Amino acid sequence: MGDKIIKKPIVVVGAGLTGLVVAHELIKKGLSVIVIEKENQVGGLGRTLNYNGMKFDIGPHRFYSNNEEIVDYIYQILGSNLKEIKRSSLIYCQGRYFNWPLSFIDIFNLRFKTLFLILRDFVFNIKIVSIEPEVNYASYIKDRYGKTIYNIFFKNLSDKFLSCSADKIHWIWAKAGIEKAVIDERIYSRNLKDVALMLFRSKKFTKNYFYPINGVGMFADTLMSLIKDKGGVIKTSEEVIDIEIKDKQLTKVILKNEAILPSQVIWTAPLTILARILNYKELKLIYHPLQVFFLLFEEQDLLKKFQWCYYSDKNISFHRLSIPSCFSSNLAMPGKASIIIERSYDKSDEYSLSPLELKEKILNDLKEIRVVNKTAQIQDILIKRIDNAYPVYTLDFVEKKDDFLDYLKVFKNIKLAGRQGLFWYNNMDECIENALEVAEGINPLI
Ligand SMILES: Cc1cc2nc3c(=O)[nH]c(=O)nc-3n(C[C@H](O)[C@H](O)[C@H](O)COP(=O)(O)OP(=O)(O)OC[C@H]3O[C@@H](n4cnc5c(N)ncnc54)[C@H](O)[C@@H]3O)c2cc1C
Repeated sequence: MGDKIIKKPIVVVGAGLTGLVVAHELIKKGLSVIVIEKENQVGGLGRTLNYNGMKFDIGPHRFYSNNEEIVDYIYQILGSNLKEIKRSSLIYCQGRYFNWPLSFIDIFNLRFKTLFLILRDFVFNIKIVSIEPEVNYASYIKDRYGKTIYNIFFKNLSDKFLSCSADKIHWIWAKAGIEKAVIDERIYSRNLKDVALMLFRSKKFTKNYFYPINGVGMFADTLMSLIKDKGGVIKTSEEVIDIEIKDKQLTKVILKNEAILPSQVIWTAPLTILARILNYKELKLIYHPLQVFFLLFEEQDLLKKFQWCYYSDKNISFHRLSIPSCFSSNLAMPGKASIIIERSYDKSDEYSLSPLELKEKILNDLKEIRVVNKTAQIQDILIKRIDNAYPVYTLDFVEKKDDFLDYLKVFKNIKLAGRQGLFWYNNMDECIENALEVAEGINPLI
């Protein structure tokens, strides 16, 4: 362990988008940088898998930002490989498809009883501004959107998404999730009144976002090339297994076969791993894993074309489906159609259903929701477990995180960044913004 010694570079742990943007900025400043990545590929959650001629992102991944500097930055990296795409996203609830953001026509698609109950909530139960302290995810949604929408959509979706009941989840998760689902901050959706207004207004807003022509992973792959061209080092399939500390400084980062003497460490991997390495008491923060099915069909079997859709109904075994070719035609082979299914890693499945049984259940669900035709068969399948897909905002996550951050304050040369390092439900644009700030704040003289 730690035979070869490399001296005084800045060590970036994790080659997701955050780690790569930080590394690229530091290299541009003329600093020496080594990036350590556990996987055999860079990009983290924002990578694209190549599998038997198909290209798959880890679920739908589009770039969007209200900050023009960030959009410019993404353009600078990708140039003409970045395309602007019109959004086509749906939600599926009570066996029916609705546009998201909602359009006026969707009212007529609601069951009559559901429409009546929503209107009743609207008149009697909705708080336009909540003055009481927020309690949890469930109360946050019920207060703003009413019991009916909560029961038929949000409750089931959160059970399926995080395998955790909505009253055990912090209200910040609800706020963050809704903002991310709408993405355009001009389309307010703070409560049922806003949603009602959305029915009349959403058409006026552009619902475009950006996407690299060969998959979201192109952004990370391009950054990797730029970093390497400028002399930076990226070590994939390498893990930080230990860290030595002296005089409140991280003095040695230990990998399987070598050790690095860092000037500074930028940590973008999960906080729980850092806590374990530093022998902090057990850090009870939860990162939820995701089970992703990448499926191949004959093109003629595909009945629907949209980029992504949320499925809240309990009988459907997954919570989101996306169709890569609707992001870029380069992602599919001619004559074939690929589909990405995301489902929560429910422990009970692992014991009760074999992968083959799950595959059958998913195929039947795809037929029921009318995405593929009744005779369709899966031509090829890749199943992946994605660890650390979501930071779970349990009711006490803020205190647990703050305790650990307090403990870390004594160490002079470590900085946390990114979705995992901050334990924050960041999107890619927010990760880029955070990475640029972190790189800006690095003092080259330390
Ligand atoms: C299903 C899904 C869909 C999403 N869709 C969108 C979207 O449409 N738009 C959007 O903007 N954002 C989206 N996001 C969020 C986006 O993927 C993340 O915000 C972003 O990719 C996080 O980048 P990161 O570098 O901070 O973290 P990560 O990508 O998680 O990178 C952390 C890296 O650290 C590595 N690592 C872990 N442990 C170690 C170790 N011990 N040593 C070395 N390396 C280690 C990991 O392998 C990983 O590569 C989505 C996320 C998910 C899960």
